[in-house]
Amino acid sequence: MPRITLPDGTVKEFAAPVTAAEVAASIGAGLAKAAIGAKVNGELSDLATVLDSDCSLAIVTPKKREGGADADALFLIRHSTAHVMAEAIQRLFPHVKLVYGPPLETGFYYDISFEGGKAISTEDFPAIEAEMAKIVAENRPFTRYEMPIDAGLAKLKGEGSKFKLDNAERATAAGSTALSWYATGTPGTNWEDLCRGPHVPATGKIGAFKVTSLASSYWKGDENLDRLTRVYGTAFATKEELAAHMAQLDEAKKRDHRVLGKQLRLFHIDEMVGQGLVLWTPNGGVVRQELQTFISEELRKQGYHQVFTPHIGKLDLYRTSGHFPYYRESQYPPLVEHEQLSMLAKEGCSCGDLVNRMEKGEIDGYLLKPMNCPHHIRIFASSPHSYRDMPVRLAEFGTVYRWEQSGEIGGMTRVRGFTQDDAHLFVREDQVAEEVLGCLSLVKLIFGTLGMSDYRVRVGLRDPDSAKYVGDPKNWDKAEEACRAAAKTLGVPFSEEPGEAAFYGPKIDFVVKDVIGRSWQLGTVQVDYNLPIRFDLSYIGADNQPHRPVMIHRAPFGSMERFVGCLIEHFAGAFPLWLAPEQVRVLPISEKSADYARELHSALRAQGIRATLDESNDRIQGKIKDASDMKVPYCAVVGPRDAEGRKVSVRAFGTEANLGEIGFDAFVDGIAREYRTRGAETVKGSMAK
Ligand SMILES: [Zn+2]
Ligand SMILES: [Zn+2]
Repeated sequence: MPRITLPDGTVKEFAAPVTAAEVAASIGAGLAKAAIGAKVNGELSDLATVLDSDCSLAIVTPKKREGGADADALFLIRHSTAHVMAEAIQRLFPHVKLVYGPPLETGFYYDISFEGGKAISTEDFPAIEAEMAKIVAENRPFTRYEMPIDAGLAKLKGEGSKFKLDNAERATAAGSTALSWYATGTPGTNWEDLCRGPHVPATGKIGAFKVTSLASSYWKGDENLDRLTRVYGTAFATKEELAAHMAQLDEAKKRDHRVLGKQLRLFHIDEMVGQGLVLWTPNGGVVRQELQTFISEELRKQGYHQVFTPHIGKLDLYRTSGHFPYYRESQYPPLVEHEQLSMLAKEGCSCGDLVNRMEKGEIDGYLLKPMNCPHHIRIFASSPHSYRDMPVRLAEFGTVYRWEQSGEIGGMTRVRGFTQDDAHLFVREDQVAEEVLGCLSLVKLIFGTLGMSDYRVRVGLRDPDSAKYVGDPKNWDKAEEACRAAAKTLGVPFSEEPGEAAFYGPKIDFVVKDVIGRSWQLGTVQVDYNLPIRFDLSYIGADNQPHRPVMIHRAPFGSMERFVGCLIEHFAGAFPLWLAPEQVRVLPISEKSADYARELHSALRAQGIRATLDESNDRIQGKIKDASDMKVPYCAVVGPRDAEGRKVSVRAFGTEANLGEIGFDAFVDGIAREYRTRGAETVKGSMAK
């Protein structure tokens, strides 16, 4: 006699075993109709599950809760849609073999082997969706049946799919006591798939679906095994939810920095130059220059000194720092001098010998610099320092080169050459806490100015059980406390992560998410007790004795490439006026106002404003659209009446109507002020008053 406890605490008692569907019907006809699955003792199950003993039961329906769709309902719908898609694909491509098709957070996929026949392309999607629609319209039940392991394995062997046989063998190894199939309809008659379930009761419960994309994959993720095609799709309970999801994806695509980078001509990656090597085109150059100017101004206020160092350094330098030959995989190979090379060639030295002798230090060469620290250290060491000179803060927009295995084509976020907004602070131990705080206040200021609040802070601490960390534990305690205290001043949530410190000291990292949800580490602030020892750095203390300084490495934005890539997505390409490559476009309505437009254009240029003039014969609507396509912050529309009254009709990017009219001088001054204050005062804001 099962006693069934419902979510509200009610207990229902039945005289004989019942299915979850029958319990739903006993509660109400509405619930029975909406039901697509059940949670039995917390486990997601089919509605047809027989309840023969006491249990807790919740009926799963696609009804939205607290604004979002029910995650269990989506799981059932998507897993069921994966079956429907696989059946449709097998109808159209009878030669394919199915591998594995799980639901995902945003949809589902099915890994399929197309070997030995026609391959699939995105052009096949409409035909696949049409077949799927037929299966959904037929409203066939998902019917589960089970077989004992041996009989089940024999059946699969007979069917000849090594993929399904392997799935079954793995399920058996993991402890399954029987194998189960789900037929879409009647077992033995309709299409079926080896599957643990659960599913919605019938295909008609699938509200809306879409086949979305293709990717290549390998069986078990192993590139030595079969090459597979991963077909992605998504499904929802209703057409409206699917439409909203697709609109959101479209929006994300529009923000993608690789797409916008091309459209707005911000940067270019050229196969002839090399993968992962960013070419900053004039428009992107403006954005970078403005950011560097802003950062440099702040650094000057904080007492930094600007230095410049070359792009290469001798191998010996990196032997001392420890970057060579360690971390060799992440560097371009060393450069060898001509004379050395010809001498080695005469000796008949092989490539293997060359590498060996370089590592041993018998042959010298140069390395494209993988980081700027060793160069800055040699600058610090080039003159004596007293405790009164400390801290010494050396800053450089330093370009470094790292060998990335997968130079992601077309993007700025994973590259092989990049410029860090780097600085190294050589400080006395008693100055560590204050200097770390100073580094973070700069980050806070710049993120604040850019309106970036969606970042995460990670404080990397040492793992107390590990021996890999160098230096005195007392120093570590102090440095960790300094980092923790500094992170608190940021006013954003941060996590402390033991084991995430560098081997030479604790660090603070800044992590942001891009439009497709990938996390990127931007900046970092690191406290370092190790390199000052390796390079034997010292300063003269008040006691007239040499003392060891502590180093702080900091690159708050990581690299200009990655940072600007993230900024493009953050602003969806619509940069604020101070960063915008083109700040104002002057649009004369006709030839009659051309002279006045030229005068306005010159007046703006005289103020150092990046203004352009559209003197084409296009209609004004066309000119406005062109400016809007390039996301120019302001358009100054001038017609004969404006010329007469010395006025400007102002249009801001992203607003439908004109902001209104403003006097010639007020407009030029307003734009100049918005530029100078980096958006603290805006023309738009002043006209709204
Ligand atoms: Zn399945
Ligand atoms: Zn460094």
